[in-house]
Formats: sequence, structure tokens, C-alpha cells
Amino acid sequence: MKLALAEKLCCPVDKHALNLKIFRTDSEDNLIEGIFTCPLCRRYYPVVYGVPVMTPDEYREKTLEEPMLLKWGVQPDLENPTRFLLKEKE
Ligand SMILES: [Zn+2]
Repeated sequence: MKLALAEKLCCPVDKHALNLKIFRTDSEDNLIEGIFTCPLCRRYYPVVYGVPVMTPDEYREKTLEEPMLLKWGVQPDLENPTRFLLKEKE
């Protein structure tokens, strides 16, 4: 996914503008790995192999996303296995 396009995406749940943390791009300005976060609902949407995971919560598989998040140093809220929220800042 092109970075210019990535910057235009909004949260599929509440349409709020998303924050993007970039972990890897290629030489053609494609976003390969990163994570979108929504400041309003606190959901996170990982970008894996250039594809943003923005399907509804019930179609997402938390255990598949976890290794990527941990590799990136992102703290998902593990106490809510069916919610894709960031851990509350302490
Ligand atoms: Zn949201």
C-alpha cells in the first residue's frame, strides 16, 4: 500500500482520522509493516505484508496478530481476547 494512500485512511468503526506508526517500507514508498491506531475508540489495525487488517472485530484472529505486535513493541490489551484495543497507558 502506498504511503500517500495510507495517510488518507480513517477508522472503519467511527471514521476518525488514524495515527500511523511505520515499521517498514520498501524502496517505492510502499508501506509494508506498520500499525494504525484510532485515538477515539483505541482500536489498532496492523499492516502486514503491505495489507492493512481492517476487517470487523469478529473476523479478526487475535492470536495471529499478536506475534507481529510484540515484535513491534506494541502492547495489545490481552485481557480482552475479542477486542482489538491498545492497552491503556499506565
Ligand atoms: Zn475508531
